[in-house]
Amino acid sequence: MSQDLANEPADSVSVTISGGSMGGLFTGIALDSAGHDVTIAEQSTGTLRSRGGGIVAQQSIRQFLSRHDIVDPTNITTRASERRFLTANGDVRTSKADSMVFTSWDAVYRQLRAAFPDDRYHTGRTVTGIRATDGTVRFADGEQTTTELVVAADGGQSTAREQLFPDTEATFADYVAWRGVVPEADLSDTVIDAFDGRFTFYQGERMLILAYFIPGGDGSTAPGDRRLNWVWYDTLSGRERETVFTDTTGTNHQFSVSPGQLQDPVETRQRERATEILPPVFADLVATTATPFVQAIYDLQSPQMTVGRACLLGDAAFVARPHTAAGTAKAASDAVELKAALGRHSSLGGALASWDEARTDYGERLVAQGKRMGDERLSLGS
Ligand SMILES: Cc1cc2nc3c(=O)[nH]c(=O)nc-3n(C[C@H](O)[C@H](O)[C@H](O)COP(=O)(O)OP(=O)(O)OC[C@H]3O[C@@H](n4cnc5c(N)ncnc54)[C@H](O)[C@@H]3O)c2cc1C
Repeated sequence: MSQDLANEPADSVSVTISGGSMGGLFTGIALDSAGHDVTIAEQSTGTLRSRGGGIVAQQSIRQFLSRHDIVDPTNITTRASERRFLTANGDVRTSKADSMVFTSWDAVYRQLRAAFPDDRYHTGRTVTGIRATDGTVRFADGEQTTTELVVAADGGQSTAREQLFPDTEATFADYVAWRGVVPEADLSDTVIDAFDGRFTFYQGERMLILAYFIPGGDGSTAPGDRRLNWVWYDTLSGRERETVFTDTTGTNHQFSVSPGQLQDPVETRQRERATEILPPVFADLVATTATPFVQAIYDLQSPQMTVGRACLLGDAAFVARPHTAAGTAKAASDAVELKAALGRHSSLGGALASWDEARTDYGERLVAQGKRMGDERLSLGS
């Protein structure tokens, strides 16, 4: 730790955050509430739009929303009280009581964004470089700013991580997640009855599909207004990764192809596969989905989360497979723990060192857990 950081107080710290999605907003709100002086720079212009998905509303997310007086989590969450596995013909294979809480990415983002002041949330502001030694951040328009702390919450393809840890790369798993969201109004009564109040799975050979209800596009959780969210982990079944991840314009993506941009043969083949191998209610659900999309499954692990005055937070530091249902929850707890470390330690250096140690350890364990869960569920390596 440099002498500067060891001697610098950890209160009323000036902070620049790169990235204004979940991690950036959790951090901005948490640090602002502790009296730090926070500014967020988000590269996108306007409001961020959901990639169209549900998230498990883990306790860390719900606690964040209620402890910061943002929203009563029950207003933006749906619940399941049973975890059910189906057989291939749609019968119930196993069922057990299990309480799960779900929400949607857009419902949480909207609440967080509204809770952070507009005058300190700058859109269309792309960070191009960070100097970790003195906290200088450079922007694409040539401007720069210097603050005592820089938090890079700039996601799985983090510019900051590339700069700080150029050797850290995503490792792709041998399967992908096909996903979709269907408005409840478009679903048949049979499908609604099958999934309502449940977290439902079908485990097939080297594949797993699951579904749960999430709030509607406007955040409403009332029956009739909700959406049914599904995630289908499937191997590439002989297809080239490049073919699956090339969109309708011929552009090849590394991480995902957005809703409405899957190439026709790719989408058609997956829809046919749904009819062939999924239980009828899941096949029906996939067939009703207007614009399915696909995401790569990958593991990403940074060697540490702080360098000098710069921190990597959320997906910028670690990406664990979605089986852990922990991406957004981890971003929330990274932020809460950063605030706690700054409150607990008298020096900025001491706070960052203790946060780094604890959160890097947590991130490593989560990535390992995600690999185990995924490889087991997709019967990989066996
Ligand atoms: C628009 C959007 C929609 C999403 N929808 C879903 C969903 O439906 N379901 C789901 O499970 N997960 C979704 N995610 C991912 C989810 O938010 C993350 O996996 C998790 O919450 C951790 O969040 P994060 O803030 O660390 O990373 P991310 O959510 O990936 O956010 C990173 C942010 O940094 C910004 N950024 C990147 N580079 C720069 C730069 N150089 N300068 C300034 N800003 C930069 C990005 O524009 C983005 O807003 C979405 C992410 C985004 C950005």
